[in-house]
Amino acid sequence: MTLIHSLSNLEEQLHYHLSLLRLPEPNWPPARTHQGHAVYDVVIVGAGMSGACAAAALKLQGIHNIALFDAAPAHQEGPWATFARMDTLRSPKELTGPALGIPMLTFQAWYTAQHGTQAWQALDRIPRLVWHDYLQWYTKVLQLPVNNQQQLLNIDGVRDERLATPLARLHFQDDRTQEKYTRYARHVVLALGMSGFGGPNIPAWAQSLPKECWYHSSEVIDPQRFGDKRLAVVGGGDSALDAAATALEQGAQHVDLCIRGKGYSHINYSKALSSSGYRAGYTHLSAAQKSALLGFLAQQPTPPSRGTVARIIAAERQRPGTLTLHFEHEIQQAYVQQDELLLTGHGPDITADLLVLATGYRTDPRMRPELHALLPHIQFYEAHALAPDVPGESGVIPILNPDFSFQTRPDADYPLAAQIHCFMHAAILSVGRICGDIPGISQGANQIAQGIAAKLYQAEFDHALTTVKNYGELEVSDEALQPLLNLARPAIVEEKLSKH
Ligand SMILES: Cc1cc2nc3c(=O)[nH]c(=O)nc-3n(C[C@H](O)[C@H](O)[C@H](O)COP(=O)(O)OP(=O)(O)OC[C@H]3O[C@@H](n4cnc5c(N)ncnc54)[C@H](O)[C@@H]3O)c2cc1C
Repeated sequence: MTLIHSLSNLEEQLHYHLSLLRLPEPNWPPARTHQGHAVYDVVIVGAGMSGACAAAALKLQGIHNIALFDAAPAHQEGPWATFARMDTLRSPKELTGPALGIPMLTFQAWYTAQHGTQAWQALDRIPRLVWHDYLQWYTKVLQLPVNNQQQLLNIDGVRDERLATPLARLHFQDDRTQEKYTRYARHVVLALGMSGFGGPNIPAWAQSLPKECWYHSSEVIDPQRFGDKRLAVVGGGDSALDAAATALEQGAQHVDLCIRGKGYSHINYSKALSSSGYRAGYTHLSAAQKSALLGFLAQQPTPPSRGTVARIIAAERQRPGTLTLHFEHEIQQAYVQQDELLLTGHGPDITADLLVLATGYRTDPRMRPELHALLPHIQFYEAHALAPDVPGESGVIPILNPDFSFQTRPDADYPLAAQIHCFMHAAILSVGRICGDIPGISQGANQIAQGIAAKLYQAEFDHALTTVKNYGELEVSDEALQPLLNLARPAIVEEKLSKH
């Protein structure tokens, strides 16, 4: 076993291993311009784990004319260093996540290079900010071109008669200067995160409350806000438990946790979706097969993760009596009365100073202004189209191709849809769990990169044909061939030489 003792050593090894695989492939798509503007082959919006992994997969396949744009400031992409509150990841440390099958790109290689094998063996779950640092290193070592504080506002399409396929015109705002500008791309990968195809799920009863007395768990909350407060947390998942634990650790007077379900489940069935068969095969299943799988999974609540359970128990034990769990307690109304919140529903009334809604996310692209121009043209599932038992709404979950590109509505003339790739949770129904989370992300990124490579090649077929015809590398010289040709009868030698 080769022992790697430092990050610089790991980076050397990584580049050596990539060179053994002849990766990255040299750039092959031809450079194009539109009315004097440079055209990217791919613009990736969102430079979190998904965007970075898609960019890496594209580079390895020789598609180098790419750029990533992210609204977040540098080194703050994704939830890890902003609104996430868990101490450690929920996923096991062994998952290879965005490594794309390259051993030296794995979290384990990165961690062991800095802390040694014993520390790796002793590690239980990955600390959240350590995972964030790993993703930052991944972006840096692969030299992914990230433009920060650049917010996507809108996407529309333009035609250029010299090109076989339309171009995406992306409208951005530089959040540092408020300057608005456009960029052109042949393909777009949307990697906007958990709420990227919708937004936070705010229950109707909370919508009229004054904003200063509630947060959604996806907001950045100064933990000191919890100090000495009576907090109500609505939701039964890990985010709810993490918000409650953070508040208790910050000295909250009391936390009421209101959970709709009867209790916690114990099995995370989605972990059974770990085979390469599932990852590659789901997208090709029949609607009935998808329905059988999804219908079952939709009825299985996700259990809380081990680390979160241990953390909240420890926080309560520090100050016994400060946490109350209310199962089967669905909140139905909320008011502000004499400077305090009153929550009522299926259970005892709850009074609080502050409310955290850990109520998850809604898939509803109408909540995303940057997607509005796209929506009239793309295909959506009907409610219950896939799994009759899964609660759902028509027109919110997109139907995607295996390369995550949108399908065009039958009544729309919008070929650009096939060049926009939705690398977000909303894709799961179409392509399976190979997006959004750590376990399948490399498969998803490779699937997108291969799809884009295929489409770029087809769109540039004339160029590809000319490249083949003009191919000039000499496989064998006249000089090397001559001794062989000397063995031929004179007439044939003359004929061959005249053809050459
Ligand atoms: C609290 C929390 C804990 C999680 N824990 C785990 C876990 O343990 N294991 C696991 O497998 N998964 C976990 N996940 C799920 C998933 O792994 C993460 O959400 C992960 O961050 C997904 O990566 P992403 O790149 O898709 O999205 P993100 O990391 O959220 O990145 C999306 C990026 O898009 C940018 N963006 C959005 N809109 C725009 C726009 N209009 N213009 C420009 N940029 C934009 C954002 O700034 C953001 O940086 C967790 C998620 C959360 C929220």
